[in-house]
Amino acid sequence: EKKQKEQFIYQPAVTSDGHQIEIAANIACSAEASSAFANGAEGIGLFRTEMLFMDRQSAPGEDEQFEHYCKVLKAAVGKPVIIRTMDIGGDKPIDYLNLPEENNPFLGYRAVRIYPKFEQLFRTQLRAILRASVYGSTKIMIPMIQSIEEIRWVKQQLAEVKAELDSCDIANSGQVQLGIMVEVPAVAFIIDQFCQEVDFFSIGSNDMTQYLLAVDRDNGQVSHLYNSLAPAFLRMLGHVVKTAHEHNRWVGLCGELGADNKVLSLLVGSGLDELSMSAPKITATKAALNDLALTHCQQLFEQACQCPTIDDVTTLLENASATGP
Ligand code: PEP
Ligand code: MG
Repeated sequence: EKKQKEQFIYQPAVTSDGHQIEIAANIACSAEASSAFANGAEGIGLFRTEMLFMDRQSAPGEDEQFEHYCKVLKAAVGKPVIIRTMDIGGDKPIDYLNLPEENNPFLGYRAVRIYPKFEQLFRTQLRAILRASVYGSTKIMIPMIQSIEEIRWVKQQLAEVKAELDSCDIANSGQVQLGIMVEVPAVAFIIDQFCQEVDFFSIGSNDMTQYLLAVDRDNGQVSHLYNSLAPAFLRMLGHVVKTAHEHNRWVGLCGELGADNKVLSLLVGSGLDELSMSAPKITATKAALNDLALTHCQQLFEQACQCPTIDDVTTLLENASATGP
């Protein structure tokens, strides 16, 4: 007998054979935090802070940002909150930054790439996050990282900002973890080296799919080629999770793929530690997980990685759901 979905809202997400996977929420503003938790989120897996910077005349100051981050951390009452630093520029223009128009915004000047030029803006955000970090379990995540040099520069900034706060006796947690989005394919190939630099990873399947397959995620002409079931994507996923786990690093996934229940068995089988999605999808995902068995998902994932085509992967999934775990 199927349990009612509602029964799963505040339950941990576990497979039928007892494997637990965190189900977290993606939010775009602090006002969304309380409803995310009301929907059963076990954490915030992605707080897209860029919305704070958009549609206004000047950047939000440290205190204004601090209030927003505090609000989310307080709503989380101890559950983990991953705050992603601003992913602006490119296709998310900000008038007051006067960024140049670009022919290829998705390959251009965006996210972590603009931080060195707008160092004060970045440091202000880090200060606000560090100050808020005393209110809960805070993790900082950097978008669009593609090289070790970039993350080392970020770590230097973070260390300096923390030292500034400490020297002025401004409260901040000593426990803030640092992680990166895995959304540029280059990172997947040197993920072992990134394990030496950061505490955790979250796979940005939206951008990773676009960059791995060289398909603009917003271009209808090529949208039929945009598919995260591509065997290349699955192999990337398997390699990142396996390598990260060998180095005791945690890996989540925060793109749209995480909420696609047709693919859930593969995501579970890959070994991901967390899936982060829009809040309304959480309960259905927890309920669907209850119908899956980890061992079966692992086999399915191995098979999917050996499929030559997307069609083969799709057929594998259809047959698997017809026969059940
Ligand atoms: C992603 O790229 O998958 C992601 C979660 O980030 P965004 O959609 O904000 O680029
Ligand atoms: Mg992205």
